[in-house]
Amino acid sequence: MGILERFRLDGKVAIVTGASSGLGVAFAKALAEAGADLVVAARRVEKLTQTKELVESLGRRCTAVATDVSDPDQCSALVAAAMATFGKVDILVNNAGVGSAIPATKETPEQFRGVLDVNLMGAYWMAQAFAREVTNGGVIVNISSVLGLHPGGLPQAAYASSKAGLIGLTRDLAGQWSGRKGIRVNALAPGLFPSEMSDELPERIFEQMKLLTPMGRIGDPEELAATLIWLASDASSYVTGITVPVDGGYLMP
Ligand code: NAP
Repeated sequence: MGILERFRLDGKVAIVTGASSGLGVAFAKALAEAGADLVVAARRVEKLTQTKELVESLGRRCTAVATDVSDPDQCSALVAAAMATFGKVDILVNNAGVGSAIPATKETPEQFRGVLDVNLMGAYWMAQAFAREVTNGGVIVNISSVLGLHPGGLPQAAYASSKAGLIGLTRDLAGQWSGRKGIRVNALAPGLFPSEMSDELPERIFEQMKLLTPMGRIGDPEELAATLIWLASDASSYVTGITVPVDGGYLMP
């Protein structure tokens, strides 16, 4: 296999959660460009349909499944839909996420649990459903954040905990499944990228991130998607259990 062939995903089937906006759309597009057929999931069906049309315009097959990842049954149903449509599933991108910025003394149990339910538990329910079906090896990429490793200047206990939890989850599942089931599990830790979620951040956070980022700018989703393709493909066939920052140097010691 030539070196660039290792990055190809022809014949693979990939599930991307949170594919109705932002980074999930960029991930679905990149996976399709690399050759994969897609199963895209999120709650907003109309926006999800736009992602499906984008993938199909690239010549790949795509099915869209309305899914709330905080519900384990809906996660199982999503993987079952992928199996029913394509007969197999090879790649899971746990990208669905919600933001939060609430001072810790004011945050209610419902608010804190609501973020963990989607960002951390949702990823676990999806990983469980995926691993129960995969028999011939697979890949999971969890979308964490630099905020799982470093504070970001806002009161974000729920978000930061969920993203740090994803890094621990990544290591644990890699330990459980990389050898026994041939499922590699890795995470991305993005810095700041344009999306619906980041659009809600105050302008001062953008300015602060740029100042603290050695490259002096926010990221382009295609730069993140390129690293996703590395982790999703045989180009990273001996890589498991790690979290890769894609952050313009923000986390540099
Ligand atoms: P976004 O545009 O708001 O996208 C979030 C996606 O998650 C949407 O497609 C949303 O779709 C989906 N989602 C939310 N709750 C869901 C649920 N309960 N079930 C299923 N899907 C759900 O923001 P984004 O920045 O692209 O975020 C994508 C991921 O990247 C998140 O995990 C985020 O934490 C992470 N991240 C982003 C940045 C950044 O700078 N943008 C940096 C670090 C990490 P519906 O509303 O249609 O369900």
